[in-house]
Amino acid sequence: MADHHNGLSFLESVDHMVDRALLSMDLAPDVAEAIKACNAVIQVKFPVKIRGKVQIFSGWRAVHSTHRLPAKGGIRFAPCVDQNEVEALAALMTYKCAIVDVPFGGSKGGLMIDPRQYDRDEMQLITRRFTLELVRKGFLNPATNVPAPDMGTGQREMAWMADTYKHLNPDDINYTACVTGKPVEHGGIQGRTEATGRGLQYALQEFFRHPDEVKAAGMEPDLAGKRVVVQGFGNVGYHAAKFLQEENDCRIIGVIDRHGMLHNAAGIDVEVAYRYRVEHRSFKDFAGGEYTENGAKGLESECDILIPAALEGQISADNAARIQARLIIEAANGPVTFEADQILNKRGVVIIPDAYANAGGVIVSYFEWIRNLSHIRFGRMQRRFDEVRGHYQIEALESLTGKVLPQALKDKIDAGASELDLVRSGLDDSMRQAFQGILEVRNGNEKITDLRTAAYVTAIRKIARSYLDVGIY
Ligand code: GLU
Repeated sequence: MADHHNGLSFLESVDHMVDRALLSMDLAPDVAEAIKACNAVIQVKFPVKIRGKVQIFSGWRAVHSTHRLPAKGGIRFAPCVDQNEVEALAALMTYKCAIVDVPFGGSKGGLMIDPRQYDRDEMQLITRRFTLELVRKGFLNPATNVPAPDMGTGQREMAWMADTYKHLNPDDINYTACVTGKPVEHGGIQGRTEATGRGLQYALQEFFRHPDEVKAAGMEPDLAGKRVVVQGFGNVGYHAAKFLQEENDCRIIGVIDRHGMLHNAAGIDVEVAYRYRVEHRSFKDFAGGEYTENGAKGLESECDILIPAALEGQISADNAARIQARLIIEAANGPVTFEADQILNKRGVVIIPDAYANAGGVIVSYFEWIRNLSHIRFGRMQRRFDEVRGHYQIEALESLTGKVLPQALKDKIDAGASELDLVRSGLDDSMRQAFQGILEVRNGNEKITDLRTAAYVTAIRKIARSYLDVGIY
């Protein structure tokens, strides 16, 4: 990945950002070093017989921090995965969890594979074999290390992983908590699939609740009507674009995928474009916009908000000066390199950083893990009780006032929250609180001018606190 980062590896790029944050803090250098260090990383190589021939697969799992357990983070399946990338992503998970107050350490895994080259049965065989390696070596366990979906993995892979763990540990009563992002029928939670995109929407909504921030970015108030370009139309990019269009009246003017860019100044119908792409595997010949093959150039299109939701290192020293967006919100992990970050900061482009912006996934993973440990769906014991209480409140109000409440209001008062309602409420609250925490840190330290540095300082303070409280040993 070094080429994307203009000489800096992904891990170095993350470390530089952390070092920049440390410059504005008064932290003992040894504590800083302890926080930055990757605690453990394993590489596994294992054979799987595919179509009569033995193939060797390479995978990694890095545990960046264990100041809180379990260590948490996704597993990606991609042809370009390597140890440096996995370590960088594991470090990001540590800071991410701290920023949004999710009590986990940071971890990340990767398998070097192009999933498009294998059918479902083959993928199952490979995933189960990889899981076996991770479980046997202590890198997958509900108490210490809990994977989740990432690029190239989803509910399907999580179900296979959980099932493999269960067969190896039939006496572990908490086996479903060994991975998150599972299908709902297999211990998953409502709203996990949409969670990262949903969290991104909540982050933007919160940003627009702070008029000074919006003004500093050189934008008019109000999220409605903003022109948005999304790079990457996988789970995260699709959901973010969909929610921003349907619920915030944003105009999605560009969608970039690995083949090219779909552009329409009047706005793209996200749902229709998404279905077209599923069917045709590209936006080519889609009637709802103009298609060009140069997707990279699309990042430089005129727009208000740019959402990089694909790979790391997409905005580098090569193109940072040409980015026209006023606000970048990082849906991917590490889409802006350290050098690009400096260029964009100088140009006054505001960046809502990855470690905060895309934390929705791990926040809802946290809810899923708790659900698994408590062995009960959120709201199961409370929902009908709340409905009945709401009903009595309506009766009391009506009999005291002698008036009949409008039906729409009654429906709101006597509705008990479903699991999805509770997940969204918890996610929204976490995103709001975290953003306010980041602003507080930035506003309280004149050395900090950008949100990323403020986010890292927030994280480092919390992690340092926990190290200092219990001592480093
Ligand atoms: N892979 C996601 C991320 O990068 C989710 C991790 C998790 O839920 O543990 O944040």
